[in-house]
Amino acid sequence: MKTGYVFHEYYLWHDTGTGAQMVPTGDFVEPGLHVEAPGTKRRFNSLVHVSGLARQLQMIEPIAVSTEDVLRVHTPRYLKHIQDLSKIGGMDAGPFTPIGRGSYEIALLSAGGTYQAFNAVMQGQVKNCYALVRPPGHHAEPDAASGYCLFGNAPIAIRRLQAEGKVERVAVVDWDVHHGNGTQAMFYEDPSVLTISVHQDNLFPVNSGPITDTGRGPGDGFNINIPLPPGSGTGAYEATFDRVVLPALDAFKPDLIVVTSGFDASGWDPMGMMMLNSGCYRRLAQRMVDAANRLCGGRLAMTHEGGYSEGYVPFCGLAVLETLSGIRTSVVDPMSDHMDLWGGQALQPHQDSLIRSAEELVTHLKKRLNAR
Ligand SMILES: [Zn+2]
Repeated sequence: MKTGYVFHEYYLWHDTGTGAQMVPTGDFVEPGLHVEAPGTKRRFNSLVHVSGLARQLQMIEPIAVSTEDVLRVHTPRYLKHIQDLSKIGGMDAGPFTPIGRGSYEIALLSAGGTYQAFNAVMQGQVKNCYALVRPPGHHAEPDAASGYCLFGNAPIAIRRLQAEGKVERVAVVDWDVHHGNGTQAMFYEDPSVLTISVHQDNLFPVNSGPITDTGRGPGDGFNINIPLPPGSGTGAYEATFDRVVLPALDAFKPDLIVVTSGFDASGWDPMGMMMLNSGCYRRLAQRMVDAANRLCGGRLAMTHEGGYSEGYVPFCGLAVLETLSGIRTSVVDPMSDHMDLWGGQALQPHQDSLIRSAEELVTHLKKRLNAR
């Protein structure tokens, strides 16, 4: 079986307007390209094709989700808010979330691409998948847009699969550099979905994603936040996965592992202050492949989130897709070896101490699982 892959030209047509990267224009700020621009996604997809990998993937056609699908995780008020704004365009749907004319339909197609890819994994049509969709989804809250995200792509897909009786227990691993606050909110009281977010401490949203947010009521223990200190490198990330993420997955025993995949923890990203290279993303992806093989018949589904370095996102993305498919192309990342030599890539004591605290969350999760 092949790896499933989703992309659609419309994903590039979601219009975020102008910006000076992440700085809103106006007053003394000259309009330029908005940081959440199509380029990173277009170039990632281009490299997938130029490398020859695309020919060896199973292309999956995105189909827009319905309003019923959206309403499983968002409020009717919010759905109407996005529908109305999308007719006008050129406004902010929420904090840091510009919306263009027609963005509503593209957001439905983004969630729909995620669903079709996840569904193909659950139906056994592909061995795993990567949905290269836009706009992203992990910041979108039930009743609010946030951080360039309109609809929760992964939550919409997961809730629909659950409603269709195709999956019960899902684990979501979010390696985007920002906190997966929307995904957390949508499953916060639900023990059927384990949400794990590895992010830079208090980067975006601010005051979101502390280690103390573990879930509520029946969902207590089933939300794990690992807010790594800025400057964390490959050593800190690999230790986090080995000591917290993988033990949590092993304890939870999901039917499906989802990765909400952002490449803004790379050392060249203008939004994050982390130091990952494509080599590290490859190793993290391998850990996810191995965990899925060990726990749930290899069922691993990834959907795209952030990542803002035009030059570097494609190499991180290709490394992950190569790992999912088990096919190594002839493409060489010209920067990865150099980045391995950067100071601070090895696990540092202050990072180790945060990870040690996060290990206690796995103990808490196991206690909650045993109590059921
Ligand atoms: Zn991000």
